[in-house]
This record gives sequence, C-alpha cells and structure tokens, in this order.
Amino acid sequence: MTRYSRDHPAGEPITDIKEDYGHVKRMNRLYNVLSKINGFIIRVNNINELLESICPIIVDDGGFKFAWIGILDKETKEIRLAALWGEGEAYIRDLKFSIQPDLPGGTSPTGTAIRENRIVSSDDIEHDARMLNWRRRALTFGFKAYAAIPISMDNEVIGAVTLYADTPFTFGKEEIRLLEEIAGDISFAMGNTAKLLKAKYTLIFDPLTGLLTREHILQELQRLIESSSQSGERLTFIVMDIDRFKSVNESIGYAKGDLLLKEIAKKLASVIKTPNMLGRISADEFAVIGCDIKDDESIYRTIENINTAFSKPLATGSEEVLITFSMGISLYPDDGSTGEELIKLAEASLSQAKKLGTNSLVTYSPAINKRLSEIIKMKNKLIKALENHEFIVYYEPKINIQTNTLSGVEALLRWQDPEEGLVRPTRFVPILEETGMILKVGQWVLKEASKQVQQWSKKGYNFKLAVNISAAQLEQDDFASMIIMEIKDTGLNPSNLELEITESLLMKNVERNIEKILQVKDYGIAVSIDDFGTGYSSLAYLKRLPINTLKIDISFIKTLPDDKETAKIIETIISLAGVFNLKTIAEGIDSQEQINFLKKAGCDEVQGYYFTKPLPAKKFEEFMANFHRDFSDPAGSKS
Ligand code: C2E
Ligand code: MG
Ligand code: MG
Repeated sequence: MTRYSRDHPAGEPITDIKEDYGHVKRMNRLYNVLSKINGFIIRVNNINELLESICPIIVDDGGFKFAWIGILDKETKEIRLAALWGEGEAYIRDLKFSIQPDLPGGTSPTGTAIRENRIVSSDDIEHDARMLNWRRRALTFGFKAYAAIPISMDNEVIGAVTLYADTPFTFGKEEIRLLEEIAGDISFAMGNTAKLLKAKYTLIFDPLTGLLTREHILQELQRLIESSSQSGERLTFIVMDIDRFKSVNESIGYAKGDLLLKEIAKKLASVIKTPNMLGRISADEFAVIGCDIKDDESIYRTIENINTAFSKPLATGSEEVLITFSMGISLYPDDGSTGEELIKLAEASLSQAKKLGTNSLVTYSPAINKRLSEIIKMKNKLIKALENHEFIVYYEPKINIQTNTLSGVEALLRWQDPEEGLVRPTRFVPILEETGMILKVGQWVLKEASKQVQQWSKKGYNFKLAVNISAAQLEQDDFASMIIMEIKDTGLNPSNLELEITESLLMKNVERNIEKILQVKDYGIAVSIDDFGTGYSSLAYLKRLPINTLKIDISFIKTLPDDKETAKIIETIISLAGVFNLKTIAEGIDSQEQINFLKKAGCDEVQGYYFTKPLPAKKFEEFMANFHRDFSDPAGSKS
C-alpha cells in the first residue's frame, strides 16, 4: 500500500494493521542478521572469530538489546559463556546455565534449547507463565522477549545463541524459519574448515564482485516464490545488462574491465538494499529480486535510483566511462508462477529492451509498461507545472462537532493538467516526492494557503489552517525555520497553523522528529498525526511526541457506526488521546450517524464529504457563507 492510497480494507481492526507492519519489520531485522552473518562466515578464519562476531551482528544489525553464546561443557553439563554483545552483561555473568534439569539454569530457555535441540522463545516475557523464575530479573534488565537458538557442529548440538529484545517480539512461523536458517548457517560455519567455507562462498557469492551468484539468485527466487505463494505477496524480478559492455571491455582492457565491474557492483549494492537481493548472473548482467519492490511506483523509484547512481561517469584509472543499463522486468504472480518462468520472461523483456536501444526498460506486462511510461510522462509535465501555475489549493472544512462551528480548513493540493484536467494528489505527489520537487511545491502550498486564510480572516472568518507535510520537507535540517519563513510575509499567525504529518512518516525517525516538532512548537505552530492507526506508534512515543491532535484515518470511519469492532477501536483511540491530552479529529465522514457516534464518543472535530468535497477558494467562501444555515444543527436539515 502506498502512503497515499485510501484502500485499506474497511473495518480492519487496528491490531491487525499494526501486526502486519510489525511482521514486516521483524522479518527485515532477521533478514539483516541473516545476510550479515552469511556475508561474514565466508571471511572468518577460525571458530573464535566466528563466535566473537555473531552477537554484535544480532544486536547492531538486528536491533536486539543483547545476545550471548553459550557452549556446552560435555563433562559437567554446564553451559559456558563464550561471547556476548549489547546491554546485559551483568544479567548473564551472575547466572548459571546447564542442560541438566535439576542443576541451576537447567530449565532455562538456553538449557532447554540445547537439551532438546529446538528453538525456545518467548514473545512477551511479562505475560509468559514459563518465565516465572526469571521474569523479574529479565524485566529489570529491560528484556521483553527472547529466543534461544541451538547451534550444532557435525550434527551434534554444542551450544546456543540467546537473544533478547527490548520490546515484545512475535516469533511467528516465519520468524522462527529465519532463526533456523541463521542457526543453520552458524552451524555450517562451525563445522567446516576454511576451505569448505570458501567453497560455499563461491557457490553463493560471485568472487569478482561479492554479489550473489546466478545459482543462488535462482534458488532464492524459488524459495521466495514459495513463501510468497502463502503470504500472497508480490515479487519483482529485474535483469539488467550493461549497455555496450563488450566494446568498453575491449577498449579499456580486461583487467580494467574487472575493476569497472567491481565499481558497478558496489554502486548497485548501494541502491539495492535488504530485503531485496542483488546478484551478478553473467559477465555483464545483474539481477535484482525485489521483495520490497511490489508496485509500479516502487519499480519506477528503483529504476530512477539506479539511473541517478550512474548519472556520473565511473573512473577506471585514467579513463571515465558512463554506464547505462537496459532492463527487463517480470512480476510474481502477475507474469509467472515459478522462478524459471520469471527469469525467462525478464530475459525476454531485456532482449526487447536491447532492441529499443541503450538505457531502455521493458516490463513483461504491457499494463505495467503503460503505467510506467505514464509516470515518466507525468514527471516531465510536472517539472513545468509550478512555473505554469497549474497547481491549485483546494480547501476542506473541519467542523467542531461539540460546538457546531467551522474550526479549520485543510489545504489539499490539486494539479490542473492541461491535457487531463484536475488530478488528485495521490497520483502525482509521490512523483513530486521522488524528484525532490515536493520541497518547492510544498512551500508554495503553505504560502498560497496562508495568504488565503489570512484574507478570509480579514473578512471575519477565523479558523486554523492545516497543511500536509511530506518526508522531504520534514527531513530538512531547518524544517521549523523554513515554515516560519514561508508564512512570514502572509501575515498568518503561526498559532493559526497546523502541520499534518502522517503517522508512518513521524515514526520513521522518531527521535529526530521529536526534536523538529519541538522547534515547530516553539513558534506556536500545532502538529497533528495524519492517518492515525495505519502506522505503528507505540504508547511510549505518543507520550513523548509533542503533538496536538490525532487524526483518525478514514479507513476506520468508513464502516461506522455499524461495525462494532471498529467502533470500539475508535472509542479506544479517543480515550487514549484524552489520556495524552490530545485532540481528536475523524476524517472521511459521510453520514450524520457517524457524526452522532463520534460526538458521543467524545471526538472533537470531523471532516469529510458529508459537509462538502474539497473546494477551490472561491467556492469555499460560498460554502462558508452558507455554513451556519446548513450544519449548525446536526439533527436538522441533513438528517
Ligand atoms: P490526507 O491528508 O489524509 O487528506 C484526506 C484525503 O481524504 C483528501 O484526499 C480528501 O479529499 C479525502 N477525503 C476527505 N473526506 C472524504 C470522504 O468523505 N470520502 C473520501 N473517499 N475521501 C475523503 P486528497 O485531497 O486526494 O488527498 C490525498 C492525500 O494527498 C492527502 O491525504 C495528503 O496525504 C496528500 N496531500 C494533499 N495535499 C498535499 C500537499 O499539499 N502536500 C503534501 N505533501 N501532501 C498532500
Ligand atoms: Mg491530511
Ligand atoms: Mg489523512
């Protein structure tokens, strides 16, 4: 789902949305660990070095709080600490572990994991009855979940890696599968000599570039397809061929050609990040498995990022070479249902692309081809839209349902495309964001709407202006002062301005954002969390985030008031907001019944098509003139 779509399944409970998101995050953390460990084991020279490096990877790359490795002493049946990393040294140093149930620590997770050769985990130590003996101590150290993973050498369990998380962590079926894979890799490394390790390395990694080999990419693609067929997730497979590599190679010489390939691999790897996978599948052909590249927009973004990374020539000694790629793309399950099929189709698309000339791209599905070329066309038109005055601000009223007054407006961007007519932001804002144009356009919206609202205030209409903020804007170091600068000349009082920032954007870099919002608040500007309920905010952050309003996402409102479960979620959100002293506003209202429910639940404000669709300034003024008559009594004319 893109950040701008409004297509959440109606009435989906808040816990499910968060759980899905949490699952992806957890899998990413474990994938990080797996790929780091995989990358590492081929470089280690001895077992000590291997043991020493595992825990830092789990903690630093997997985001766990603490990890330790215990090795079994076969004689005494005790488990000896062999390596550790993270915060928790005192926890482990003071405890004894064993695999003998009647010895201290014999029934501990680590003891059990080694004795029974299985992963022992707890998703939530605080509420796990098995943790009775260790709970208090574990919680004192900030441990909320753990997993103890047995490791073996030559088919015999020799110890365990135990990791701890500082928040509850669901070790579901897929998470456990990844842990098993991690354990398998560590065990493999333990049991094999350096020579064997090298052999494994060349099977998985291309010796020249360090990228995955064709064989491994094929294997991974098949494996991912199998797990996607259960989860229903989409995958993208991209093959890319360096344009004219043969003649480059001949002109600079093969040794330099190798260096060039290494450089190219490095650049590609900086664009293609986990969980996506990158391989070299023939001399000058690379392949990407996009686990995280699922729709037209992210395909487009990936291609753009690759093109940007190669926009400058690469240096190979004295020469400089400008690299372009031709690409072929196929999608699972849209185009094919097996790895082989996907590769065949992507390669067929690639040869089509080659026929079109250098730097071409062909996707197997004509539908995606069409949409991608539409995006490219739109981008070219958008570049001129600002100077051609094609952007317009529409206004959507916010109504205080406790006092029946017009309390604010949300500025919503529209684009008057000379060819297509009025275009909604869901279609073009992502492109503005990608190209960085959103900075300029965002400033324009802020200025334009501020001027307008200030004009209205002179006519006696007083209310707050809400403006949506994009990632690129928030990421600016001087975010707060930029906002102030834009509204300075408009006369709008900062205390009449509210910034809407989506929950997922806020949570992406929450510590940094807290600072920025504090600066914004210093100027008297308010901040609300837009699309609340679709992201992943924890209570701890809600408490610390200096925001004013929670804006309940439209997906929760749609099924109101009949869907009892959603109704309960909304009541919970509103009472939660009360605890944190936050206002609530519900978006997407289209019936009086919804207003009645929300009013009773204590919601402060609403907005939605029930009152009016967003309107251009002139029309909005007419709406305001009639507002009192139409909506002053919610039980009146509309019901
Ligand atoms: P948003 O901020 O969550 O805005 C609410 C969206 O829901 C608006 O769509 C609004 O027209 C629509 N909406 C309101 N009431 C109803 C209703 O009763 N039913 C339905 N079906 N929809 C309703 P719009 O104007 O297309 O904007 C979509 C998104 O585009 C916004 O979501 C916002 O994230 C983004 N956006 C809009 N203007 C700007 C802008 O100036 N800058 C940035 N960065 N993003 C913007
Ligand atoms: Mg908004
Ligand atoms: Mg919203």
